[in-house]
Amino acid sequence: MYDNNNIFAKIIRAEIPCKKVFEDDKCLFFYDINPVAKIHVLGIPKSSHVDFSDFVNNAEPSDVSGFFKKVSFVIEKLGIKNDGYRLVSNSGINGRQEVPHFHVHILGGESLASNL
Ligand code: AMP
Repeated sequence: MYDNNNIFAKIIRAEIPCKKVFEDDKCLFFYDINPVAKIHVLGIPKSSHVDFSDFVNNAEPSDVSGFFKKVSFVIEKLGIKNDGYRLVSNSGINGRQEVPHFHVHILGGESLASNL
């Protein structure tokens, strides 16, 4: 069950500020408030989906592909495509997901720890 009061829902509604990287009518990309890499950006669709599986299985297929194309666009915009980056999407208890609105972490800008 999606919680309309999660922090990313509030960011989408502009009730809480964020440092935007890119926004359109379907998605929003902004800097993580507690970065774990030199560049740490979060990407979220504006639709109400709890996690990766919920988004991929229940969103319109065109919105799923459109979102991931925007992830790729933002990676290029951040200038980290050539040197490489990491995409992470935490889900549920074992994935230690803190915010129950589907999101991807885009990490880069430096050589990342090899702990995956
Ligand atoms: P996750 O564990 O994948 O759910 O990660 C949630 C992420 O959201 C964490 O990396 C937090 O630092 C980040 N976060 C929480 N609140 C905010 C906020 N207001 N603005 C930007 N990032 C946030």
